[in-house]
Amino acid sequence: MSETLYPKLISDALATVRYPGTGKNLVEAGMVEDDIRIDGNKVSFSLIFDKPTDPFMKSIVKAAETAVRTFASKDAEVTVNVKTRKSAPEPKENPLPGVKNIIGISSGKGGVGKSTVAANLAVALAREGYRVGLLDADIFGPSIPKMFGVEDEQLYMHEVNGVSKIIPVERYGVKLLSIGFLVDRNSPVVWRGSMASNALKQLIEQGDWGELDYFLIDMPPGTSDIHLTLVQTIGITGVVIVSTPQQVALADARKGLAMFTDPKINVPVLGIVENMAWFTPEEHPDEKYYIFGNGGAAELARELNVRLLACIPLVASVGRHSDDGTPVACGDTMSGQAFIHLAHELTDAVDQRNRELPPTINVKVKKS
Ligand code: ADP
Repeated sequence: MSETLYPKLISDALATVRYPGTGKNLVEAGMVEDDIRIDGNKVSFSLIFDKPTDPFMKSIVKAAETAVRTFASKDAEVTVNVKTRKSAPEPKENPLPGVKNIIGISSGKGGVGKSTVAANLAVALAREGYRVGLLDADIFGPSIPKMFGVEDEQLYMHEVNGVSKIIPVERYGVKLLSIGFLVDRNSPVVWRGSMASNALKQLIEQGDWGELDYFLIDMPPGTSDIHLTLVQTIGITGVVIVSTPQQVALADARKGLAMFTDPKINVPVLGIVENMAWFTPEEHPDEKYYIFGNGGAAELARELNVRLLACIPLVASVGRHSDDGTPVACGDTMSGQAFIHLAHELTDAVDQRNRELPPTINVKVKKS
């Protein structure tokens, strides 16, 4: 039989959770709002944090949920609403002043190889001598740490001009931060919209990205509020859409493209990457089997007047190298070269795009 729940039981449970460093529990600290709701075994309440970037937010929410289940009812279905006293400050100035180009890597659907393309493109750009950063913003399955073999890395902070900054992990010449570093990889996390947006903003604005030529963002698949947050937080130079040649994937790629070109979002599409364009057996590198269809991405690119940046073959080694933590673009195999080619095409598309923009006028102040 489940226990009968009532608000005092919930607030008593929350009073067992302490806010680190203050000696006060959540109730004493005034963090529990007076809106505890109970409906059968469903419990909801709000926790108020001082700022949206509170470093303990995630662990406190988790501890509050656990406390309710431990001290009130083990069957309770707990929903914690997170509120903040101060809303997230609007970025008044460019949060990434040292970054020249910000490129979103997006896809209409999951599983088409978006993260594989993002990881290998980052490595290929670094091999070409560019200064590269990669933010893994795929809240549904952050896979970049595994692809770079840095899943067990801890994040550290240091002071830059008196401000605490998160130090990106560096591998194969690429500076990396991932939403995956913020959660325990063994327990699946369902990010609520605002939590995910805040975490991503934090990684962008508090990351010590320094000077970069290319800052790649591995976006979540599909279309979501996260895309909006990213576009609003930083001025994205353009996006690359990854698709397989399958008609279903191309239909979703078309939707993704429509989202970015919507006047409300208005982000330039730099081009399409056709991944798994054909299958090549490793022992027969000259053979091509168009198992998912042939020419679909090229046709879509023509129709929508965007570039087809590259066609990447489906080769077992691409997946194997990702699993091993050494992206295939680190080497000089045929598929490694395909990503170097993609890097050339992308830099060309970005240069063209920057040439088309009105020139910035440098006004020099005359010294009197
Ligand atoms: P997404 O980010 O779109 O969900 P992933 O990059 O995680 O997709 O790729 C999905 C799976 O397909 C992974 O196991 C990856 O290793 C594999 N994969 C992606 N591209 C290729 C490729 N060109 N050749 C072989 N395997 C690939």
